[in-house]
Amino acid sequence: MTTTALRAKPLQEDWIDIDWKEELKNNITTLDELQQYIPLTATEKEELTDVVKAHPMNIPRYYLGLIDPADSQDPIRKLCVPEVDELIVAGAMGETTPDPYGDDRHDKGNGVLHKYSYTALVVGTEYCAMYCRHCFRKRMVGLPTEQTVRNFQEAAKYFAEHTELSNVLISGGDPFMLPTEVVGKMLEALVDIDHLNYVRVGSRAPVVYPIRFFDDELIALLRAFNRRKTLYVPTHFNHPAEITAEATEAILRLREAGIAINNQAVLLRGVNDDVDTLVELKNGLLQIGVNPYYLYQCMPVARVRHHFQVPLKSGVDIVDDARKRLDGYGKRFKFIIGHDIGKIEICGRIGDKLIMKQLHARSDQAEESSRMLVRRLTESGGWLDDLPAVEL
Ligand code: SF4
Repeated sequence: MTTTALRAKPLQEDWIDIDWKEELKNNITTLDELQQYIPLTATEKEELTDVVKAHPMNIPRYYLGLIDPADSQDPIRKLCVPEVDELIVAGAMGETTPDPYGDDRHDKGNGVLHKYSYTALVVGTEYCAMYCRHCFRKRMVGLPTEQTVRNFQEAAKYFAEHTELSNVLISGGDPFMLPTEVVGKMLEALVDIDHLNYVRVGSRAPVVYPIRFFDDELIALLRAFNRRKTLYVPTHFNHPAEITAEATEAILRLREAGIAINNQAVLLRGVNDDVDTLVELKNGLLQIGVNPYYLYQCMPVARVRHHFQVPLKSGVDIVDDARKRLDGYGKRFKFIIGHDIGKIEICGRIGDKLIMKQLHARSDQAEESSRMLVRRLTESGGWLDDLPAVEL
């Protein structure tokens, strides 16, 4: 059944009746397949072979259809098609790490990461409908990993025992790529943990694989869970061209199940690092009922930072100029550095001083949360650690 009431644009192709599991088998995973859609020179193909060995390619046909094949600088292309720049582990923007968010240090085993006292995360799967080229968990998505949950009941036991938790995030990879029955079992294991105010399932599927939400069984399951414990779906739209009729349909189905959807975008060079694109993205999200929540500064991820990170000096101006054009709901989002020490909001700048506020700190450094931070902006600095301290 199709929801039509709020859909502004007609569906480009009728994806509604396609079996989501079957369609995944049509994903573009090899360079030979890619070449049927996008022209690649022999040199490019040779170089990209090394890239996809390190970080596999996985592009749904639906998402590939959003690319203009004639435009080598197409922003959607940059998000999904491997680039030769991925061979650069660090590069012009500075040092990198495979684990910029410090996940590994908070790994409790069995896929559980517990970084902040009130929030824990469980890695439901390392598989995603698409392997985004800018992913900060690039070290594990689509690759063999020990960090995926092996026994969800055990993970739920951990959450039940840790009464300081107010919420749990099922993440990945993309948990909605698991069979509906498995998603149901995971949620059921959490529903009776009274100290959890809510549960989140983080998913980019509404953006890259909206077909998943055309599965009535999944929507019914989420609706039923949401009546017993509040469910949020954080998602990840980066560009207004991703807000298609199909993505809108997926969002509407989630909203009709009573689920609030918060967007966590990443500021990415050549994708959304201009004022018009950001304004269009935030307004487009509001139109379809998605809350603009975070805009992340691109992390110093190996094979990502060099070509995707925007210097903070220009980034803060782009974000501020976009905010000036947005209404109250549009400007609710926070511009965030997701640092190893915790989450830091970039409030703005005064001259060459960047003004920040720490929002979350690691549980053993609670005194750091809510502190103000000021650093001096440099021309190319793209991360907190690049910016010199300032005497106030
Ligand atoms: S869907 Fe999310 S976890 Fe998966 S590759 Fe994209 S950004 Fe990474």
